[in-house]
Amino acid sequence: MPLSLPFDTTYLTLPDRFYTRQTAAPVSDPQLIVFNHALAADLGLETGTMTDAEAAAIFSGNALPDTATPFAQVYAGHQFGGFSPQLGDGRALHLGELDSPLGRVDIQLKGSGPTPYSRSGDGRAWVGPVLREYLMSCAMQALDIPTTKALAAVTTGDRVLREQGPLPGAIVTRVAASHIRVGTFQFFAARGDVEALEKLTGYTIARHYPDAGGPSGLLEQVMARQARLVALWMAHGFIHGVMNTDNVQIAGETIDYGPCAFMDTYHPDTVFSSIDHQGRYAYSNQPPITHWNLAQFATALVPVMPDQDQAIEDFTAVINRFPALFQSEWTRAFAPKLGLPATDQAAVLAQDLLDHMAKAKADFTNTFANLHQTATTFPDWHKTWRAADPDDALWARHNPQVIPRTHKIEEAIQAATTGDYAPFHALLAAVTNPFTKNEPYMQPPDPNEKVLQTFCGT
Ligand code: AMP
Ligand code: MG
Repeated sequence: MPLSLPFDTTYLTLPDRFYTRQTAAPVSDPQLIVFNHALAADLGLETGTMTDAEAAAIFSGNALPDTATPFAQVYAGHQFGGFSPQLGDGRALHLGELDSPLGRVDIQLKGSGPTPYSRSGDGRAWVGPVLREYLMSCAMQALDIPTTKALAAVTTGDRVLREQGPLPGAIVTRVAASHIRVGTFQFFAARGDVEALEKLTGYTIARHYPDAGGPSGLLEQVMARQARLVALWMAHGFIHGVMNTDNVQIAGETIDYGPCAFMDTYHPDTVFSSIDHQGRYAYSNQPPITHWNLAQFATALVPVMPDQDQAIEDFTAVINRFPALFQSEWTRAFAPKLGLPATDQAAVLAQDLLDHMAKAKADFTNTFANLHQTATTFPDWHKTWRAADPDDALWARHNPQVIPRTHKIEEAIQAATTGDYAPFHALLAAVTNPFTKNEPYMQPPDPNEKVLQTFCGT
């Protein structure tokens, strides 16, 4: 046995309208790109004798262990504000859950072939989005931002047809606290399936929020985790790009790395996604969109409450607390980046700095990593900051030197499409050590290297 995966899958105890059992479509020539040994160790997996070929066979879906019970989950979601009543895992397959030292996690293949929820899609992924997800989730983990994780990436040996032409196919293995989304609740709420909603609510509380006490407590705790998560995104200049309700994970991890990016030059209106024409998911819109998404979650929870009028009133009161809660999380996330305790004064200083940065078109990451340089760039701000007596060790711990810059990711993807994975591995090593200076990865893009748009992970 090359790798023992002792799956213990509880999601399948839910009624069968929550998922469809589905086998992985075979691929012609699976080759391992990368395996996350550190994550495997964290998960308590024994990988000692596993060869690359065995890993490729398992994590392409070609040779699933007998313990796997593959299935695709159903969900719905608001996509760019419009409700899609039927989405689901269209290119992903759950292998099962592991009761691991990290807690209970889902192991999922992404890019593994069509499912009943594929709609017009082919169920496949090409190597670009697979490498982007791998890099981004490893970087987020190293930055201590809650995220789904990447265990493996393989090429399939098959070509995938995209707008750019035929591209090498690939599959990423995702590890998540679970894949329950706001959209999972919305799926059953939209159908008036109260029995399913009650089961989902009970399951979610037991799995993720055991002390929530009920739907109202669940809503409050989900809101608290989302506020914390999005504040951390803001503090790292991260733009998710597709904050549809099907991409909001109830356990509070960043999920679905599609057209996402860490900003180079700071501006609050920055948008990357090629399909986000209205700037709905621009950097500065992430907090109000989170508020809106949480309101959709609250709406989906109302049917499980005995007195629905009362529930609407109570849930509205909870949701109305989001802006204040977010502001305090924002302060908690930004203050240490200035080496200061989380006070209103620190929040004002952080906002002033951001305003200066926007006007000066300053690099987000490098400005925070080199705050002493503001003595020349923003001298008045610098004086006020020093007068607040910052703790330099604290700010150093909270400001990465290296983030996965979009032009570096594109460079790695470009090389990978010709079979050269060296730039990918070098970038991966850099972003998994984000607090270590690493010159080639710290430079903002030259004008000719600038990537203005990122594309959906299809
Ligand atoms: P996403 O943009 O990744 O959040 O995906 C939105 C929806 O489209 C989900 O239901 C996906 O499963 C589905 N989807 C995205 N790409 C594909 C694909 N290549 N084949 C089938 N379904 C897809
Ligand atoms: Mg999605």
